[in-house]
Amino acid sequence: MATTTVHRIFNFAAGPAVMPLSVLEEAQRDLLALPGVGMSVLEISHRSKTFEAIIQQAEADVRELAGIPPDYHVLFLQGGASLQFSMVPMNLLPAGATADYVVTGAWGQKAVKEAKKVGTVNVAATTEADNFTRLPAAGEVKLTAGAAYVHYTSNETIHGVEWKTDAVFGDAPVVCDTSSNMFSKPLDISKYALIYAGAQKNLGPSGVTLVIVRDDLLARSPQTLATMLNYNTHTKEKSLYNTPPTFGVYLVGLVMKWIKGLGGLSAIGAINGRKAAKLYAEIDRTGFYRGHAAKECRSNMNVTFRLPSEELEAEFVKQAKAAGLDGLKGHRSVGGLRASIYNAFPEEGVDALVALMREFERTKG
Ligand SMILES: *Cc1c(COP(=O)(O)O)cnc(C)c1O
Repeated sequence: MATTTVHRIFNFAAGPAVMPLSVLEEAQRDLLALPGVGMSVLEISHRSKTFEAIIQQAEADVRELAGIPPDYHVLFLQGGASLQFSMVPMNLLPAGATADYVVTGAWGQKAVKEAKKVGTVNVAATTEADNFTRLPAAGEVKLTAGAAYVHYTSNETIHGVEWKTDAVFGDAPVVCDTSSNMFSKPLDISKYALIYAGAQKNLGPSGVTLVIVRDDLLARSPQTLATMLNYNTHTKEKSLYNTPPTFGVYLVGLVMKWIKGLGGLSAIGAINGRKAAKLYAEIDRTGFYRGHAAKECRSNMNVTFRLPSEELEAEFVKQAKAAGLDGLKGHRSVGGLRASIYNAFPEEGVDALVALMREFERTKG
Protein backbone atom coordinates (compact mmCIF):
# COMPACT_ATOMS: atom_id res chain seq x y z
CA MET A 1 0.00 0.00 0.00
CA ALA A 2 1.26 3.48 -0.85
CA THR A 3 2.35 5.49 2.14
CA THR A 4 -0.02 8.28 2.94
CA THR A 5 1.36 11.76 2.48
CA VAL A 6 -1.20 13.58 4.57
CA HIS A 7 0.04 16.52 6.58
CA ARG A 8 -0.71 16.24 10.28
CA ILE A 9 -0.54 19.26 12.56
CA PHE A 10 0.14 19.21 16.30
CA ASN A 11 -3.28 18.84 17.90
CA PHE A 12 -3.37 20.27 21.43
CA ALA A 13 -7.16 19.89 21.73
CA ALA A 14 -8.64 18.80 25.07
CA GLY A 15 -10.89 16.11 23.61
CA PRO A 16 -11.59 14.50 21.27
CA ALA A 17 -7.85 14.56 21.06
CA VAL A 18 -4.85 13.30 19.17
CA MET A 19 -4.64 9.53 18.63
CA PRO A 20 -1.46 7.53 18.08
CA LEU A 21 -0.53 7.72 14.40
CA SER A 22 0.26 4.01 14.25
CA VAL A 23 -3.23 3.24 15.57
CA LEU A 24 -4.85 5.43 12.92
CA GLU A 25 -2.72 3.78 10.25
CA GLU A 26 -3.66 0.29 11.40
CA ALA A 27 -7.35 1.20 11.52
CA GLN A 28 -7.06 2.72 8.06
CA ARG A 29 -5.23 -0.29 6.66
CA ASP A 30 -7.87 -2.68 7.96
CA LEU A 31 -10.89 -0.45 7.51
CA LEU A 32 -12.25 -2.05 4.36
CA ALA A 33 -11.70 -5.60 5.52
CA LEU A 34 -10.38 -6.99 8.78
CA PRO A 35 -7.69 -9.58 8.00
CA GLY A 36 -9.35 -12.96 7.50
CA VAL A 37 -12.86 -11.53 7.87
CA GLY A 38 -13.51 -9.73 4.58
CA MET A 39 -15.70 -7.12 6.22
CA SER A 40 -15.01 -3.82 7.89
CA VAL A 41 -15.01 -3.61 11.66
CA LEU A 42 -17.73 -1.01 11.01
CA GLU A 43 -19.92 -3.67 9.42
CA ILE A 44 -19.51 -6.77 11.54
CA SER A 45 -22.18 -7.91 13.99
CA HIS A 46 -21.51 -7.27 17.64
CA ARG A 47 -22.62 -10.90 18.11
CA SER A 48 -20.01 -12.24 15.71
CA LYS A 49 -17.04 -14.32 16.83
CA THR A 50 -14.78 -11.62 15.40
CA PHE A 51 -16.22 -8.85 17.52
CA GLU A 52 -16.36 -11.09 20.55
CA ALA A 53 -12.61 -11.61 20.13
CA ILE A 54 -12.06 -7.85 19.70
CA ILE A 55 -13.93 -6.86 22.86
CA GLN A 56 -12.45 -9.71 24.89
CA GLN A 57 -8.94 -8.78 23.81
CA ALA A 58 -9.56 -5.09 24.55
CA GLU A 59 -10.73 -6.03 28.04
CA ALA A 60 -7.79 -8.38 28.55
CA ASP A 61 -5.35 -5.64 27.54
CA VAL A 62 -7.03 -3.08 29.82
CA ARG A 63 -6.78 -5.60 32.66
CA GLU A 64 -3.16 -6.42 31.96
CA LEU A 65 -2.07 -2.78 31.58
CA ALA A 66 -3.64 -1.64 34.85
CA GLY A 67 -3.22 -4.88 36.80
CA ILE A 68 -6.95 -5.03 37.45
CA PRO A 69 -7.85 -7.53 40.20
CA PRO A 70 -10.33 -10.31 39.27
CA ASP A 71 -13.14 -8.92 41.45
CA TYR A 72 -13.47 -5.90 39.14
CA HIS A 73 -15.59 -5.70 36.00
CA VAL A 74 -14.39 -3.81 32.92
CA LEU A 75 -17.21 -2.24 30.92
CA PHE A 76 -17.39 -0.39 27.60
CA LEU A 77 -20.45 1.84 27.82
CA GLN A 78 -21.95 4.81 25.99
CA GLY A 79 -23.16 8.21 27.14
CA GLY A 80 -19.73 9.59 27.96
CA ALA A 81 -18.32 10.40 31.36
CA SER A 82 -21.30 12.74 31.69
CA LEU A 83 -23.75 9.84 31.91
CA GLN A 84 -21.58 8.39 34.67
CA PHE A 85 -22.23 11.57 36.67
CA SER A 86 -25.82 10.23 36.87
CA MET A 87 -25.27 6.46 36.81
CA VAL A 88 -22.88 6.54 39.76
CA PRO A 89 -25.41 8.01 42.23
CA MET A 90 -28.35 6.13 40.65
CA ASN A 91 -26.60 2.85 41.35
CA LEU A 92 -24.48 3.55 44.40
CA LEU A 93 -26.31 6.18 46.48
CA PRO A 94 -29.22 4.65 48.39
CA ALA A 95 -32.01 6.77 49.88
CA GLY A 96 -31.01 8.05 53.30
CA ALA A 97 -27.29 7.86 52.58
CA THR A 98 -24.88 10.66 51.70
CA ALA A 99 -22.23 10.78 48.99
CA ASP A 100 -19.13 12.92 49.52
CA TYR A 101 -17.72 14.88 46.58
CA VAL A 102 -14.28 16.46 46.49
CA VAL A 103 -14.46 19.22 43.89
CA THR A 104 -11.33 20.56 42.22
CA GLY A 105 -12.74 21.92 38.97
CA ALA A 106 -15.59 22.22 36.50
CA TRP A 107 -16.06 18.47 35.93
CA GLY A 108 -16.35 17.77 39.64
CA GLN A 109 -18.99 20.51 39.83
CA LYS A 110 -20.96 18.84 37.05
CA ALA A 111 -20.75 15.51 38.85
CA VAL A 112 -22.16 17.16 41.98
CA LYS A 113 -24.99 18.77 40.01
CA GLU A 114 -26.17 15.38 38.71
CA ALA A 115 -25.70 13.54 42.01
CA LYS A 116 -27.89 16.12 43.78
CA LYS A 117 -30.75 15.17 41.46
CA VAL A 118 -30.50 11.62 42.77
CA GLY A 119 -29.77 11.90 46.48
CA THR A 120 -27.97 13.62 49.31
CA VAL A 121 -24.59 15.12 48.47
CA ASN A 122 -21.97 16.56 50.77
CA VAL A 123 -19.37 18.70 49.05
CA ALA A 124 -16.55 17.49 51.26
CA ALA A 125 -14.14 20.04 49.83
CA THR A 126 -14.06 22.54 47.01
CA THR A 127 -11.31 24.84 45.84
CA GLU A 128 -13.71 27.02 43.85
CA ALA A 129 -12.88 30.07 46.02
CA ASP A 130 -9.34 29.83 44.62
CA ASN A 131 -10.62 29.51 41.06
CA PHE A 132 -9.67 25.81 41.09
CA THR A 133 -5.96 26.48 41.03
CA ARG A 134 -5.14 23.80 43.59
CA LEU A 135 -6.11 20.61 45.36
CA PRO A 136 -7.54 20.74 48.89
CA ALA A 137 -5.21 19.94 51.79
CA ALA A 138 -6.15 16.83 53.75
CA GLY A 139 -7.45 18.96 56.63
CA GLU A 140 -9.90 20.77 54.34
CA VAL A 141 -11.76 17.62 53.33
CA LYS A 142 -14.82 17.20 55.56
CA LEU A 143 -15.99 13.64 55.09
CA THR A 144 -19.34 12.19 56.15
CA ALA A 145 -19.14 9.26 58.56
CA GLY A 146 -20.52 6.21 56.74
CA ALA A 147 -20.73 7.94 53.35
CA ALA A 148 -22.03 5.80 50.49
CA TYR A 149 -18.91 6.74 48.53
CA VAL A 150 -16.49 9.59 47.99
CA HIS A 151 -16.12 10.94 44.46
CA TYR A 152 -13.24 12.92 43.04
CA THR A 153 -11.80 13.93 39.66
CA SER A 154 -8.24 12.71 39.19
CA ASN A 155 -7.45 15.37 36.59
CA GLU A 156 -9.46 18.52 36.02
CA THR A 157 -9.19 18.97 32.28
CA ILE A 158 -10.29 22.60 32.15
CA HIS A 159 -8.29 23.96 35.10
CA GLY A 160 -5.24 21.73 34.69
CA VAL A 161 -5.16 20.43 38.26
CA GLU A 162 -4.16 16.82 38.84
CA TRP A 163 -3.94 14.46 41.81
CA LYS A 164 -0.45 13.04 41.45
CA THR A 165 -1.21 9.74 43.15
CA ASP A 166 -4.30 7.66 43.89
CA ALA A 167 -6.02 9.85 46.48
CA VAL A 168 -7.27 8.38 49.74
CA PHE A 169 -10.24 9.84 51.64
CA GLY A 170 -11.27 7.97 54.76
CA ASP A 171 -12.95 4.57 54.56
CA ALA A 172 -15.77 5.12 52.07
CA PRO A 173 -15.53 3.44 48.65
CA VAL A 174 -13.71 5.75 46.23
CA VAL A 175 -15.31 6.66 42.90
CA CYS A 176 -13.11 8.52 40.46
CA ASP A 177 -13.60 10.35 37.17
CA THR A 178 -10.31 9.64 35.40
CA SER A 179 -11.46 10.82 31.96
CA SER A 180 -8.48 13.00 31.19
CA ASN A 181 -5.58 11.11 32.77
CA MET A 182 -6.64 7.47 32.52
CA PHE A 183 -3.65 5.25 31.73
CA SER A 184 -1.31 8.25 31.59
CA LYS A 185 0.70 6.73 34.47
CA PRO A 186 0.47 3.71 36.78
CA LEU A 187 -2.55 3.51 39.09
CA ASP A 188 -3.59 1.15 41.87
CA ILE A 189 -7.06 -0.07 40.95
CA SER A 190 -7.53 -1.72 44.34
CA LYS A 191 -7.82 1.76 45.90
CA TYR A 192 -11.01 2.41 43.93
CA ALA A 193 -14.55 1.08 44.00
CA LEU A 194 -15.41 2.50 40.60
CA ILE A 195 -13.43 4.35 37.94
CA TYR A 196 -14.86 5.87 34.79
CA ALA A 197 -13.34 7.61 31.79
CA GLY A 198 -14.71 8.90 28.52
CA ALA A 199 -12.31 7.48 25.96
CA GLN A 200 -11.78 10.57 23.84
CA LYS A 201 -8.84 11.99 25.80
CA ASN A 202 -6.38 9.19 26.46
CA LEU A 203 -8.02 5.95 25.38
CA GLY A 204 -9.50 6.29 21.92
CA PRO A 205 -12.33 8.04 20.10
CA SER A 206 -15.48 9.58 21.54
CA GLY A 207 -18.52 7.37 21.93
CA VAL A 208 -17.12 4.80 24.33
CA THR A 209 -16.72 5.11 28.09
CA LEU A 210 -14.53 2.80 30.12
CA VAL A 211 -16.00 1.83 33.51
CA ILE A 212 -14.15 -0.35 36.01
CA VAL A 213 -16.32 -1.39 38.95
CA ARG A 214 -15.69 -3.63 41.93
CA ASP A 215 -18.07 -6.55 42.21
CA ASP A 216 -19.40 -5.86 45.72
CA LEU A 217 -20.77 -2.43 44.67
CA LEU A 218 -23.23 -4.02 42.27
CA ALA A 219 -25.61 -5.23 44.98
CA ARG A 220 -26.58 -1.61 45.63
CA SER A 221 -28.31 -0.92 42.30
CA PRO A 222 -32.07 -0.55 42.81
CA GLN A 223 -34.26 -3.02 40.89
CA THR A 224 -36.38 -0.12 39.67
CA LEU A 225 -33.53 1.44 37.69
CA ALA A 226 -33.94 1.62 33.94
CA THR A 227 -32.23 -1.42 32.46
CA MET A 228 -29.63 0.53 30.50
CA LEU A 229 -28.72 2.64 33.55
CA ASN A 230 -28.08 -0.36 35.80
CA TYR A 231 -24.45 -1.49 35.97
CA ASN A 232 -25.62 -5.07 36.55
CA THR A 233 -27.11 -5.19 33.04
CA HIS A 234 -23.71 -4.49 31.56
CA THR A 235 -21.62 -6.63 33.91
CA LYS A 236 -23.92 -9.64 33.32
CA GLU A 237 -23.84 -9.23 29.54
CA LYS A 238 -20.17 -8.19 29.40
CA SER A 239 -21.01 -4.86 27.70
CA LEU A 240 -23.05 -6.72 25.05
CA TYR A 241 -26.58 -6.22 26.39
CA ASN A 242 -27.31 -3.99 23.43
CA THR A 243 -25.13 -2.88 20.52
CA PRO A 244 -21.93 -1.53 22.04
CA PRO A 245 -19.88 1.21 20.35
CA THR A 246 -18.10 -1.40 18.26
CA PHE A 247 -15.67 0.84 16.38
CA GLY A 248 -14.75 2.66 19.57
CA VAL A 249 -14.07 -0.60 21.42
CA TYR A 250 -11.90 -1.74 18.50
CA LEU A 251 -9.87 1.49 18.61
CA VAL A 252 -9.52 1.42 22.39
CA GLY A 253 -8.13 -2.08 21.93
CA LEU A 254 -5.55 -0.79 19.44
CA VAL A 255 -4.59 2.04 21.80
CA MET A 256 -4.11 -0.46 24.64
CA LYS A 257 -1.78 -2.47 22.43
CA TRP A 258 0.10 0.72 21.55
CA ILE A 259 0.62 1.54 25.26
CA LYS A 260 1.77 -2.03 25.90
CA GLY A 261 4.22 -1.68 23.02
CA LEU A 262 5.70 1.43 24.64
CA GLY A 263 6.32 -0.57 27.80
CA GLY A 264 3.09 -0.08 29.75
CA LEU A 265 1.92 2.55 32.21
CA SER A 266 5.28 3.21 33.90
CA ALA A 267 6.90 3.84 30.54
CA ILE A 268 4.14 6.15 29.30
CA GLY A 269 4.10 7.87 32.70
CA ALA A 270 7.80 8.68 32.32
CA ILE A 271 7.26 10.06 28.81
CA ASN A 272 4.30 12.15 29.99
CA GLY A 273 6.32 13.48 32.92
CA ARG A 274 9.13 14.52 30.60
CA LYS A 275 6.77 16.24 28.16
CA ALA A 276 5.01 18.21 30.90
CA ALA A 277 8.28 19.14 32.64
CA LYS A 278 9.61 20.72 29.43
CA LEU A 279 6.53 22.87 29.07
CA TYR A 280 6.34 23.94 32.72
CA ALA A 281 10.07 24.75 32.68
CA GLU A 282 9.44 27.16 29.82
CA ILE A 283 6.44 28.67 31.62
CA ASP A 284 8.59 29.23 34.72
CA ARG A 285 11.74 30.40 32.91
CA THR A 286 10.81 34.10 33.15
CA GLY A 287 7.73 35.93 34.38
CA PHE A 288 6.24 36.29 30.88
CA TYR A 289 4.10 33.13 31.06
CA ARG A 290 2.15 32.28 34.22
CA GLY A 291 0.83 28.84 35.08
CA HIS A 292 -2.82 28.69 36.23
CA ALA A 293 -2.45 25.81 38.69
CA ALA A 294 -0.29 25.87 41.83
CA LYS A 295 3.04 24.16 41.08
CA GLU A 296 2.48 21.08 43.20
CA CYS A 297 -0.96 20.47 41.63
CA ARG A 298 -0.04 20.93 37.97
CA SER A 299 -1.48 18.51 35.49
CA ASN A 300 0.77 16.48 33.23
CA MET A 301 -2.09 16.27 30.73
CA ASN A 302 -3.59 19.76 30.49
CA VAL A 303 -1.10 22.58 30.87
CA THR A 304 -3.00 25.82 31.58
CA PHE A 305 -1.21 29.15 31.42
CA ARG A 306 -1.61 32.85 30.81
CA LEU A 307 0.27 35.54 28.98
CA PRO A 308 0.62 39.18 30.14
CA SER A 309 -2.60 40.25 28.35
CA GLU A 310 -5.59 38.81 26.53
CA GLU A 311 -4.40 40.54 23.37
CA LEU A 312 -1.10 38.69 23.56
CA GLU A 313 -2.94 35.45 24.25
CA ALA A 314 -5.07 35.90 21.15
CA GLU A 315 -2.00 36.79 19.11
CA PHE A 316 -0.14 33.72 20.41
CA VAL A 317 -3.02 31.38 19.51
CA LYS A 318 -3.11 32.91 16.04
CA GLN A 319 0.63 32.53 15.46
CA ALA A 320 0.55 29.00 16.85
CA LYS A 321 -2.26 27.98 14.51
CA ALA A 322 -0.37 29.42 11.57
CA ALA A 323 2.65 27.35 12.62
CA GLY A 324 0.59 24.13 12.77
CA LEU A 325 -0.03 24.10 16.52
CA ASP A 326 -3.80 23.86 16.93
CA GLY A 327 -6.24 23.78 19.83
CA LEU A 328 -4.30 25.94 22.29
CA LYS A 329 -7.03 28.38 23.25
CA GLY A 330 -7.98 27.85 26.89
CA HIS A 331 -11.49 27.07 28.07
CA ARG A 332 -13.56 30.26 28.35
CA SER A 333 -13.99 29.79 32.12
CA VAL A 334 -10.23 29.92 32.75
CA GLY A 335 -9.04 31.99 29.82
CA GLY A 336 -5.50 31.99 28.58
CA LEU A 337 -4.02 28.94 26.92
CA ARG A 338 -4.29 25.22 27.45
CA ALA A 339 -1.94 22.70 25.95
CA SER A 340 -3.46 19.22 26.20
CA ILE A 341 -0.59 16.79 25.90
CA TYR A 342 -2.20 13.39 26.36
CA ASN A 343 -0.50 10.02 25.91
CA ALA A 344 -0.62 10.19 22.14
CA PHE A 345 0.62 13.76 21.87
CA PRO A 346 4.12 13.59 20.37
CA GLU A 347 7.09 15.03 22.24
CA GLU A 348 8.15 16.92 19.08
CA GLY A 349 4.93 18.90 19.42
CA VAL A 350 5.90 19.95 22.93
CA ASP A 351 9.33 20.98 21.63
CA ALA A 352 7.65 22.98 18.86
CA LEU A 353 5.43 24.77 21.38
CA VAL A 354 8.39 25.56 23.64
CA ALA A 355 10.29 26.98 20.66
CA LEU A 356 7.32 29.13 19.69
CA MET A 357 6.93 30.37 23.27
CA ARG A 358 10.59 31.41 23.32
CA GLU A 359 10.34 33.21 20.03
CA PHE A 360 7.06 34.88 20.97
CA GLU A 361 8.52 36.16 24.24
CA ARG A 362 11.63 37.36 22.44
CA THR A 363 9.61 39.44 20.00
CA LYS A 364 6.71 40.53 22.26
CA GLY A 365 8.11 40.35 25.79
C1 LIG B 1 -14.15 15.39 29.06
C2 LIG B 1 -14.46 15.12 30.48
C3 LIG B 1 -15.74 14.75 30.92
C4 LIG B 1 -16.92 14.68 29.98
O1 LIG B 1 -16.80 13.61 29.15
P1 LIG B 1 -17.95 13.25 28.07
O2 LIG B 1 -17.47 11.94 27.60
O3 LIG B 1 -17.96 14.33 27.08
O4 LIG B 1 -19.24 13.15 28.81
C5 LIG B 1 -15.93 14.45 32.25
N1 LIG B 1 -14.92 14.52 33.11
C6 LIG B 1 -13.67 14.88 32.75
C7 LIG B 1 -12.58 14.94 33.76
C8 LIG B 1 -13.40 15.19 31.42
O5 LIG B 1 -12.17 15.54 31.05
